[in-house]
Formats: sequence, C-alpha cells, structure tokens
Amino acid sequence: MPAKVDMDKIVSLCKRRGFIFPSSEIYGGLASCWDYGPMGVELKRNVKEAWWKTMVQDRDDVVGLDTSIMMHPGVWAASGHIDNFTDPLVECKSCHLRWRADAVEGKKCPQCSGELTEPRMFNLMFKTFMGPVEGEGSIVYLRPETAQGIFVNFENVVTTSRKKLPLGIAQIGKSFRNEITPGNFIFRTREFEHMEVEYFVKPGTDEKWLDYWVKERFDWYVKLGIKKENLRLRQHGKDELAHYARDCYDIEYLFPMGWSELEGIANRGDFDLTQHAKCSGKELSYRDAEGGEKYVPYVIEPSAGVDRSILAFLVDAYEEEDVEGEKRTVLHLHHSLAPIKVAVLPLSRNEKLTPLAKEVFRQLCPKFMTDYDDSQSIGRRYRRQDEIGTPFCVTIDFESLEDKQVTIRERDSLAQIRVPIEGLEHVVEAKLKGEAFDASTLWATRQK
Ligand code: ATP
Repeated sequence: MPAKVDMDKIVSLCKRRGFIFPSSEIYGGLASCWDYGPMGVELKRNVKEAWWKTMVQDRDDVVGLDTSIMMHPGVWAASGHIDNFTDPLVECKSCHLRWRADAVEGKKCPQCSGELTEPRMFNLMFKTFMGPVEGEGSIVYLRPETAQGIFVNFENVVTTSRKKLPLGIAQIGKSFRNEITPGNFIFRTREFEHMEVEYFVKPGTDEKWLDYWVKERFDWYVKLGIKKENLRLRQHGKDELAHYARDCYDIEYLFPMGWSELEGIANRGDFDLTQHAKCSGKELSYRDAEGGEKYVPYVIEPSAGVDRSILAFLVDAYEEEDVEGEKRTVLHLHHSLAPIKVAVLPLSRNEKLTPLAKEVFRQLCPKFMTDYDDSQSIGRRYRRQDEIGTPFCVTIDFESLEDKQVTIRERDSLAQIRVPIEGLEHVVEAKLKGEAFDASTLWATRQK
C-alpha cells in the first residue's frame, strides 16, 4: 500500500462520494472553508466519539466540559493570546498580498515580484462585536482554542466532580484562527474543531505524565488503523516552544505534502492557572486531601484537530488496487470510523426482492448506520460502498426468497459468506467487532 496518495485524489473522492464539499460552492466557494456531507458528518461523529470514548468514558480520571466560544475578553489578555498569538507578516507594496515572513525568501513578492514591507505582527484571533453597539468596549473574540474554557472552569469542575488530582478535563469544539496561509484541503483552515484535554497534575510529576500522554495519543491513532510507519514524534526545540510551554511533542503524520503536525502534546506548567488567578483575582489552586499541601497544578495538554485527524484517517485508508483487471478504489477505514457499517443491496430492483430487502434494512438500521441501495448494477454499488469504506455489504438474491439467507461481502478481503436472515444483526455485530470471516465453510455450503 503506498505511504502517500495525491491530495487531489482525496479531495476528489470526498466530493464525489459526499464526504466534504467546498463551502458556499454555488457562490464560488469561500477560501479554505469546507462543509461535511452525509458521509463526512458520520466520519466526523465517529472520530469524535472514538476520542471521547478513549479519553473520557474509558477512564475515571477525566471528565467532560462544553464551554462557550465567546468568552470574557480578559481571558485572552490573561492567556497571552492578545499579545502573543501572532505571526509576522510582510505585505507586497504592488499587489498587496500578505505573506508569512518565514514563508518567503528574499525581499520580493512570490506572486508579482513586487517589493515587500518590513514584517508586521498580525494577530490570528477573529474579532467581532457583542451587542448592538460596535466599539472598543464591545469587542469579543472567537476562541482560537478550547483550552481556556477549561482553565477558567477549573475550580467549578474540581468542586463539583469530587475528583482528586491527577484530573483531566476534556472538551471538543470549534476553534477559529485567522490563518495567513490556510490550505492543503482540511489540514489548515480558519474554522476547525479541537479535541483537547487539560490534564492537571502535581508539579514534579509533570514530566512523567507528559511521557505517558505522548505514548497514549500515539497509540490511539495506531489502534484506529493508522500505519505506524506513517507516524513519528518530534520534540520541539527550545526556540520554537509556545510562550506557555515548558516542553512539547508533536505527533507527525506523513500527509501527501510531507511530514506535518497531527497533534501537539504540551507541558503548559502552571502558566494558565497562575495567569487567570492573577488577572481575575480568584485563587486557582488545589489542596491535596491527604497531605493538605496546597499548590497550583501543572497541566499536560494533548491537543488534536478533528479535521486534521479525519484527513490522516482518509489518506491512510485510501488504496487503489487491481481486482481481476479492474481498478478498485477502497477506503480501509477502521470499522468504528466507517460512516456506513453495512449496506443492504438487493441483487436488482425487482418487485419480488424489494420487500425482503427492505425488511432486512429495517432489521439492521436500528443497530448500525445502514445504507439501502438498489439502483444501478450490483458491481457499481459494491464499488461505491468500497469507496466510502463500508465494511460489509449484505446482498439479497432470488435464492434468499427460498432459503431465507443472504450473502455478506467483506470490504477488505472481498470474501463472502452466506448466513440466515434471522439473527443477521448479531452476525454483523460480531464481524464489526473483528470476528474472523469463516469464508471457506459458509461459502462452500452455499455452493452445494
Ligand atoms: P500548526 O503549527 O499546524 O499551525 P499549532 O501548533 O498552532 O498547529 P495547536 O495550537 O497545537 O496547533 O493545535 C493543536 C491541533 O489542532 C493541531 O495539531 C492540529 O491538529 C489542530 N489545528 C490547529 N490549527 C489548525 C487549523 N488552522 N486547521 C485545522 N486544524 C488545526
């Protein structure tokens, strides 16, 4: 399987099969904004659910939170975002295009060779106004990360959750950054979703917990099917650490444009709680129940992007293969991520087959995301399901009317088994959980 696939192929499949469309397309689109279609929205929900299950549900030391996108402007002054969340920009004096200073070589505009200005700092936060009066006093920002909503609720969560440290607070939600160079499809956009945990620990144990989370997060991608050789870790050099970070690792993925950050895991020390305590005047510390010791916790932050993870999962799952002289495009998505788990396909649109096929659909759809498709040839319908990564197709043929059995076709191996309609949902469930296909016996049984 190739390590890399052209981004064009991913973009085209996403458009063709209803994963991702350009935003406002009928108006010509809006730069670097994307909409998730019927398949994309399922994939996105599955990625978020997989993350929430691992990070919150399966643990007793992490709780969830959902905070507002707009927050008191004082939050962003305290967090350092108003002063530090900036990129140096140069502007072309002729065509007025702006560039990230580190992205251009020399003093000439890459577009028109015009003269460039000296670098100016540009804040990446989106500003808007709250209430009917537009003015300095009504400025609010769209959050550039979900983390600050967690820090300002630290006290609320600790007192209401009755948990001891180490304690993590998890949040999934939209973030906004007025990126200067968005691009590479959904890799870098101005509106995206974060999945973040702030994990509060006793100072002195922070390095141990940073190592722990780096490993946990790396393993999460592998467990969900990403090939290990397409992932690597990179520690930040001292000169590239963000203003709040004591240490930081990036999990990088081999995207079509090369190795790039997929997720960052930072040791934020006590920077945020200390800043918010200072600026709000409210004490933000923790008292150890046993020793009675009081301290400001350190924070380890695994911070991932929903959209960027989706891109990695799509790229990694994509394969074009030759099957009996024909090209087959298939997404080998992990079963838990696949938008549709099972497709019900009558051999043809036939008045005898349709009632039974609909019955099978109704039997399966309360349990799994199920697709029903009876248009075009069965071959084309299989190809469509392969392209959207559907693990199993259930085919109803004329024999099914007699023997009350159906065929299940598996996406990756193309093996087929014949099973009774009664209890079909239990068979599909077991296969989705990874039970092996006993193709030889069952298919052979059918041939008799
Ligand atoms: P980058 O260096 O790529 O701009 P970052 O280091 O600023 O990213 P963080 O602030 O660490 O990113 O955010 C954590 C994660 O959020 C990133 O690893 C990425 O998955 C996601 N992310 C950040 N910015 C964007 C963006 N503009 N579009 C899509 N996802 C993003």
